[in-house]
Amino acid sequence: MKKKSDKKLGMERPISRRDFVQGAAVVAGAAFQSGALAAQGRAMPHMTSNEGGADTSAIAYPPIKTGMRGSHSGAYEIAHALARDGAVLTTDEPITEHYDLIVVGAGISGLAAAHYYQQRFGPTVRILLLENHDDFGGHAKRNEFHQSGDMVLSLGGTHNLEWWRFSEVVKTFMADHDVDYEAMRDNMTFAYGRDAPNSPAMWFDQDTYGTSRLVTNFNLSAQLSDEDIDSVPISEAGRLSLKQFYRSGPTLEGWSEDKAGRILANTSYPDFLRKYGGLTEDAVQLFDKEEHGSWGLEMRAISAGEALWEGYPGAHLFGEEWSQDSAGYPVAMWPDGNASLVRLIVAKLMPHVAPEATADNVALARFDYSQLDEEAASVRLRLNSTVIGLENTDKGVAVTYASSTGKLRRISSQHAVLACYHSIIPYLCPTMGTAQKEALKYQVKVPMILTNVLIRNSEALNKLGVDAISCPGRLHARLFLFKGISTGGYERSENPSEAVSLVFWGSISPPKDAIDIRSQLRASRQQLLDLTFSDFEREVRTVLDELLGPAGFDVAEDILAITVNRWPHGYAYEYMQLWDPEWEPGKAPHQIARQPFGSIAIANADAGASAYTHVAIDQAHRAIRELSDSP
Ligand SMILES: Cc1cc2nc3c(=O)[nH]c(=O)nc-3n(C[C@H](O)[C@H](O)[C@H](O)COP(=O)(O)OP(=O)(O)OC[C@H]3O[C@@H](n4cnc5c(N)ncnc54)[C@H](O)[C@@H]3O)c2cc1C
Repeated sequence: MKKKSDKKLGMERPISRRDFVQGAAVVAGAAFQSGALAAQGRAMPHMTSNEGGADTSAIAYPPIKTGMRGSHSGAYEIAHALARDGAVLTTDEPITEHYDLIVVGAGISGLAAAHYYQQRFGPTVRILLLENHDDFGGHAKRNEFHQSGDMVLSLGGTHNLEWWRFSEVVKTFMADHDVDYEAMRDNMTFAYGRDAPNSPAMWFDQDTYGTSRLVTNFNLSAQLSDEDIDSVPISEAGRLSLKQFYRSGPTLEGWSEDKAGRILANTSYPDFLRKYGGLTEDAVQLFDKEEHGSWGLEMRAISAGEALWEGYPGAHLFGEEWSQDSAGYPVAMWPDGNASLVRLIVAKLMPHVAPEATADNVALARFDYSQLDEEAASVRLRLNSTVIGLENTDKGVAVTYASSTGKLRRISSQHAVLACYHSIIPYLCPTMGTAQKEALKYQVKVPMILTNVLIRNSEALNKLGVDAISCPGRLHARLFLFKGISTGGYERSENPSEAVSLVFWGSISPPKDAIDIRSQLRASRQQLLDLTFSDFEREVRTVLDELLGPAGFDVAEDILAITVNRWPHGYAYEYMQLWDPEWEPGKAPHQIARQPFGSIAIANADAGASAYTHVAIDQAHRAIRELSDSP
């Protein structure tokens, strides 16, 4: 198949101008449903596809910005100058403001830290949260679309609550914010990937496989039949190797537990498939990106033991039954991911920002961003502010940050909490001890991408009978239709003729010569930062043209908006069998890293070495407990 030109893909289509034509409906919908635009007397948001979402008229309400979001332009350059280029950023400015607590980073951990500080020291304490992005929530971001006339919500990062490991602290936190996660679960029909109602499916693209083929009811983790495997467009030898593997008897049943444990922990899953499953290279490649979403990693970074635990095939070689039962997994979601949790925390800390917000209406409630940094309020949240230095003093902590104008400012507090990424902390606190700095640098976050594509309707997907698709050959390893969640006052029918977000989801494959895990993560991060919005747009349009075009989807007309949420610093690093030793109790890097430093305590999901919302909350709770009564 001949490659389509950018013009045929609709790349030159001014999405912004098309939105302009639909303008009246956009503004009415946005203002009515979120209240934010109307209240701020802002001009209509014109949705752009520009790098950095250059729609300045929409700055007052960031969730509606499209284009390059997540770690957007302007948010990270100063931090990179400090950490990557060794820039020396100092100022003699006098200290102008003083707080009881300054929190660095307004993600879930930073916001939870503010909550726990109020609980410990009383409701009248003065707290300032400094955040380098133009929106609060950290990874838990909301993408809000109005281009179809109605409000369509989607997630920009953190997806859901997985409550099977909630501590009593987290359960109480949820109750304090009126979050009934079990009821939320009852209000959702959405399910991911392999559990989705019309799925799973795998799409083999023209560029990678020489043919465009969508195979429905196809799941590499289930026991594939010979007939299923015949649909896979790889070499004859590759298909044969798959057939032999999936129908294999218990060839490894004779291994002792000790031998199995040792080999599974020290062999990457692709190597296991090659060596013990007999798969050819092109058959192994089918698995490469399967964990781009859940782990954010290429399969070669994952041990065979971890992969089998995740349900990937191979346990049958040890005589185990095939099983695919994940229906009972306790997961609850809001229609904007965990951004609704963030909104509930903000509304509790700063009631004047969202006076009407409750757990029952949080998806629709108005949030007035102009009130976030209100001088008279006891809790203030200052966006577009990158902290560049903290110093313990005899009165507490002196903090230097770069304001939204780029001007360096100095402020102080009795206590501080670093709820930001751990890898930046050694540069913010240069006088910290070497061992702690090294431990903090151990946390190299996993890059992630979540691209929302607002499509006019889902009729083409409906026609094809799919709603979640693996794409082993493409940039985003998986797509899923994001619908079926009615929580927080948001209700949207699942009518296929309505606009909906198709989520392109995954990570970035590192170059093959990036061997150790940190080189892989750093190389993927750089690749992610090097991709422009146009690169993403072209990719999305190419995929949808080839995949859905035959079912009537017109990429030039049916894409209403694109928001790329790039997260170069995504998941917190979790220790892995192939890359990390067994640490002695209390000696793991995250445990050394999170020790208090004078009047500064350390939170963030990194402090738990585990990329979960409940971990971010638990770590905030611990950090506040560790602060002294006085500096
Ligand atoms: C795409 C994606 C999907 C995820 N899905 C899930 C999920 O479904 N369920 C789940 O439980 N977890 C999920 N996670 C994990 C997620 O990281 C945590 O759940 C949680 O949101 C982390 O919160 P945090 O406050 O610890 O960190 P963050 O959300 O990273 O917040 C830290 C904040 O500090 C800011 N910051 C950093 N440096 C500075 C500085 N110098 N000055 C000022 N501010 C600074 C950052 O910009 C950021 O906003 C996901 C993560 C990603 C990236």
